[in-house]
Amino acid sequence: MPIKQVVTYEPPTNLPSALAQLSKLPPIVTPTEITKLKASLKDAALGNAFLLQGGDCAELFSYCSDSPIDAKIKLLLQMSLVLIWGMNKPVIRIGRMAGQFAKPRSSPTEIVDGKEIPSFRGDILNGFDPSERTPDPNRLVSAYFHSAATLNYVRGQLSSGFADLHNPLDWELGHVKDQVLQSKYEKIVNSISDSLRFMRTVGADTSGKLNSVDLYTSHEGLVLEYEQSLTRKLKHPVGHPGAQVGDGRGWYNTSAHFLWIGDRTRQIDCGHVEYFRGIENPIGIKVGPSMKNDELVELLDIVNPKKEIGKVTLITRYGEDKVESMLGPHIEAVKSSGHVVVWQCDPMHGNTRSTPTGIKTRHFSSIFSELSSALKIHKQHGSFLGGVHLELTGDAVTECVGGSEGLMEEDLSLNYTTYCDPRLNEKQALELAFLVAGHYRG
Ligand code: PEP
Ligand code: MN
Repeated sequence: MPIKQVVTYEPPTNLPSALAQLSKLPPIVTPTEITKLKASLKDAALGNAFLLQGGDCAELFSYCSDSPIDAKIKLLLQMSLVLIWGMNKPVIRIGRMAGQFAKPRSSPTEIVDGKEIPSFRGDILNGFDPSERTPDPNRLVSAYFHSAATLNYVRGQLSSGFADLHNPLDWELGHVKDQVLQSKYEKIVNSISDSLRFMRTVGADTSGKLNSVDLYTSHEGLVLEYEQSLTRKLKHPVGHPGAQVGDGRGWYNTSAHFLWIGDRTRQIDCGHVEYFRGIENPIGIKVGPSMKNDELVELLDIVNPKKEIGKVTLITRYGEDKVESMLGPHIEAVKSSGHVVVWQCDPMHGNTRSTPTGIKTRHFSSIFSELSSALKIHKQHGSFLGGVHLELTGDAVTECVGGSEGLMEEDLSLNYTTYCDPRLNEKQALELAFLVAGHYRG
């Protein structure tokens, strides 16, 4: 089938040996973990859990280092606590990390210093430096090792008490300029801290569940030759409905727990959908403003013919001005098809703007506006929002404007470090969690 965003490697002769090496390396994640996540996503689809997914737009190999990983885990943990407090539901955490190295591009080339060169397609294919723009097969192998090293560190930190809720967390709310807002956020944090202290005091944590949390990994499944090399026919875990059927095995993508199809590669008659329909993993589908109602249902029928609940997360990303007209009809179309999905809002990708000087940014107010509209529209249609999908980093970047720090367009140059889309910084991301929690708690 035709493959969108297809890659031409240089020299192509190195590709077979890179793929052969990848196909021998051990799985990064296991069927047991993948199946556990799918079961949790079923809870989210049925309204009994909420999905928080976030991380970089383009993860770089150089982010595979302790402090950026720590900052991201800490942020996702804090956001999840705020959401649990607000919604009274368990929160499923998925990082856009440990493999989010491939980027789809609108244009295969760009002009840099007056010269037309191939676009940066993510560290898994080429380098950001203009001299490294030719896709190199060795980078596929490097992507594997950086994913494995990142996840190894995440697992190590989580099992060593990094997310131990017995330890007080530092919430750092000093930046919030608006006093009313600051005291509102402080109240939430105090309420969370009080609850945790109470649980500790009464010894409520007999299950040991406060010692650690689950954090799953995800990325866009864009480079099919990479994904295919890490897709293995493996034994289903005990309790899986397929465990008793035939040889008891299924095709698992072992590069990440969760993979999604991007808005540029979701064509029904192309290679990405064909690949995705064959794997056991829970998957996401980006749903942008060009998606037709019938097409959406057809796509669900292809990737999930058995209508398994928890299998598909629809990641809607229309933009604040289009969500009102698009989301309702999509909800109704899916409802009448009999599919039950996790409805996740990505309020980032439909709201990218350029400043007059040509810097790509997003306004915090537009991001929150799309998210609020999604919450409201789901309610109006007897549906509910099952999750959020965010581009964020634990570092103090200045890439999106607005939020309680009051970042302005002229502040963007202070610490603008993304290699692709603008991300929420730690404070903006946490604030979004407070606002969502506030929506539920009033
Ligand atoms: C992304 O998530 O970084 C992305 C490219 O999104 P979309 O496919 O929705 O444009
Ligand atoms: Mn992006």
